[in-house]
Order: sequence, then structure tokens, then C-alpha cells
Amino acid sequence: MPRSFRRRALLMFGLTLACLPGGCDSSRVADAPPPTPLIVIGLDGLEWSVVVEMLDKDHLPNLARVMRAGTFGKLETIRPTSSPIIWTTIATGKRGEEHGITDFTRTSDDGETILLTNADRQTKALWNILSEFDRRVAIVGWWMTYPVEPVNGIMVAQTNTDSDERRLFKGTLVEGVPDQVYPPERQEEILSVVGDVAKRAERLKRRIFGRLPKARVNADRVALRKIDWAVRADAVYHSTALRLLDEQPGYDLSMFYFGGADVLGHRFWNYMYPQLYDPRPPQQNVLMYRSVIKDYYKHLDHLVGTLLDAAPADASFIIISDHGMVPVFTDTRFSAHHHEAPPGFFACSGPVFRKPAEPPDLHGLDAERIPLVCSVYDLAPTILAHFRIPLGRDMAGSIQTRLFDPAYQVAIQPEPRDSHDDAAFLAERTRLQPSADSIADKERLDQLRSLGYVGDDDEEEDEDDEDDDGD
Ligand SMILES: [Zn+2]
Repeated sequence: MPRSFRRRALLMFGLTLACLPGGCDSSRVADAPPPTPLIVIGLDGLEWSVVVEMLDKDHLPNLARVMRAGTFGKLETIRPTSSPIIWTTIATGKRGEEHGITDFTRTSDDGETILLTNADRQTKALWNILSEFDRRVAIVGWWMTYPVEPVNGIMVAQTNTDSDERRLFKGTLVEGVPDQVYPPERQEEILSVVGDVAKRAERLKRRIFGRLPKARVNADRVALRKIDWAVRADAVYHSTALRLLDEQPGYDLSMFYFGGADVLGHRFWNYMYPQLYDPRPPQQNVLMYRSVIKDYYKHLDHLVGTLLDAAPADASFIIISDHGMVPVFTDTRFSAHHHEAPPGFFACSGPVFRKPAEPPDLHGLDAERIPLVCSVYDLAPTILAHFRIPLGRDMAGSIQTRLFDPAYQVAIQPEPRDSHDDAAFLAERTRLQPSADSIADKERLDQLRSLGYVGDDDEEEDEDDEDDDGD
């Protein structure tokens, strides 16, 4: 074999190796296209069958924008199909028993039920890893982020807290509670959003749902309070996200979470599809509430649109739900649930992602036939790959190379590590403990009550609330 040919063959062999995950040297990674901003939008409980119905009527134009310009499909989820576990899996690439968020609560040594918080996570999340690699992150409203931890950028918690009287399972920002924003010097400024949203909440609700009837019975009061929670919590995080998208320098990875579709899905499914239920829900309620879920999906689509428009021009997007929802007929409180792991929503598009040869027609889709794209385990590896940060071999999923535009050469990756975790990180976590009486004092509880975040002192409602929030 002529020497030059052999050299070329060796060189080509070397290049082939360099293009396999784990086979790259750092110079190849340095030559690859540099990462651009990535924005992950989480829409808890967004259900494909409803999305498909609404796409057919052009009622979700912004989700359609993302779907038509990239890849969409179902996101395989896990059991138990519980939001704190899944959203933490999405952020870590680890199974529940590995990341430590195995439920909403745990039992303490002396038999007490304690809310799990960020302090209970036993592995690094994307925001920890990216921070170590000098990437800037903006984490807003993500599950199990209270109390906040140091990141290179900003973290705005989803605050779930214990008090003597109440627990907030599914949280939001709560005035008067420390450790909800990192860096702490931004807490006051970010918390001011809660008051701003409170001032416009009624107007916002009317814009989304039209005029909602006054509650006549207890069940209606609970349902209407769910609407109030969804609108306010999502508005707080949306306003915060818009504010952060406007900042310079910008953020490499943004993760924004919105919980309303899940909360309203549990409560209003029977009014959307009354024919499925025996006995049928009261006609009067059907008339009042039949469009609540779809009105809210439209609203979420609008929120997504404003984030798309506010994002830097070179940003790419991943939009996901942790699971879908299915009707249930045996639960006295909920008319839909997600125990059986109905797959979630997935769509991605932007400069780094593969474009379809032809934008697909989104009318007449069959929800049953929408293909599975990947699993919740694959998101963290794929997001790390986007930033060309080494994969941890202890992560459960894999890099979804086919989602990326070939020009982005995502296969060029640094050598994976056995793990991103280390003893120093775990030791730091014990310092994150939330103060046990965060919202214990009466004054703050009254404030929460007036804002609609916690219920009245009505035993039945409280119980109901806890169950509901415990999803
Ligand atoms: Zn739920």
C-alpha cells in the first residue's frame, strides 16, 4: 500500500472514531459548531389527544410552529407517573431511586411525613453540570428546586413548603419565604412578580376563560381555586421567564416549567368529554366548564409563543410534557389521571435541530399513531450533547443524535465520564435544608390565602387539596 494512501486511510479511520460518541479528542470538539442557546419548556400533563384535536382547528399556532419546523412525537414516560420524580429524571438523566426524588414526601426516622425538597436530590442536575462547564443557566419553576442552590446564572424555585398548618405540594413562588431565588440578591426583584400577577389575575382569568360562574357548591369552589392556582403560578413563571430572556448576557440553557395543564386536566376532563362518564356530570356544570381545559391549552400556547418571540434568534427549543392524561372513572375527585404512564408531548426545533424535508400538515393527525420519539431518560444526555459536555455513563438514557441537524455534527462529543457526581457535591446538599417553619406564621398564611395559593380552613377542602396537589 502506498504510504500516502495508508496515511490517508489511517487518518480517515481516526476521523471515523472521532465522530463516535466517546471517540473524540478535545480538538475535534473545539472545531465543532459552537453550542447556541437552548430553551426547554415543560408543560406538565399536556395530553396528545387534546393537542391533536386543537391542532386540527388551528387553535395551537405556536406549538404548531415548533412542530412544523422540527421533530415532534410522543415522549415515553415512567412509573410511578408522578411529576416530582419525572421532572427530576428529565433534569438529571437518572432513575428515581438514583436521584432521590421518589415521591412528593418521605417518612422520617420518627415516622413523620416530610415533603421532599431540592435538598433530597442526590445527583447533579443539568444546571449543576452546565454551571461547572461555565455555561449560564436560567431555571424557572422546575420541580424540586426549593430551596435554591448556587448556579452559574439564576434559579427561581417552585416552592413546596411545610408549615404547622399547611403544606404546599405543588408549589409556586411564595412571598415572605427565603431561599426561592439564586442569587439571593435577586430574590426581592423576582418576588415582586407575584404581586404584579395578583393585580392582574382576575383580568387574565377573564381573558382566558371568559366569565366564570360563581361557585355554588363546595366542589365548584375547589375547582375554581384550581383555575386560580394554575393561572397565577404559570403567570408568575412566565413573567419571570420573559424578564430573563430579555437579559444580557443571555443564558445558554433555560428551563421553564408550567403546571396548569395537569392541575386543570385532573379536575375538568369530565366536563370536556361528558359522554364518557356514567353517570354523566350535571349538565349545568358541563355548560360552565366544558371549555376550561382547551381554553387553558390555548393560553399555554400563547405563553409558548411569547417565549419563542422573546428568545434570541439563534435559540433552539425543546417543548415537553412529563406525561399525558387519560379519563378515570373510579376516583371521586379526579376525572382524569396519569397513573398508567400515558406518553408525554415532545417537539423540538431551531437552528441545531433537524428540519423536515417538507413541513408536515398538522391537520387530521391520529393521536394513536403519533410515533414515540424518545424517553424522559434521553433528555438530559441529549441536552448535554447539545453543549458538548461529557455524558455520565451512569445516566440511564442516550443521546438522540437523529434530532439534530447533520451540520451540527452532534456525534462529535467529548469522552463520557463514569459519573458527574462526587462526594463534595453530596456533602454540599446537606446545607440546602429548608427552614422547617418557612410559612408557619399566621400572617403569611393569611397572605397566601388571600392570593388563592392555599385553601380556607375547611377540613374537607384541605384534604381534597392535599390529594389534588399530590399528583
Ligand atoms: Zn397530575
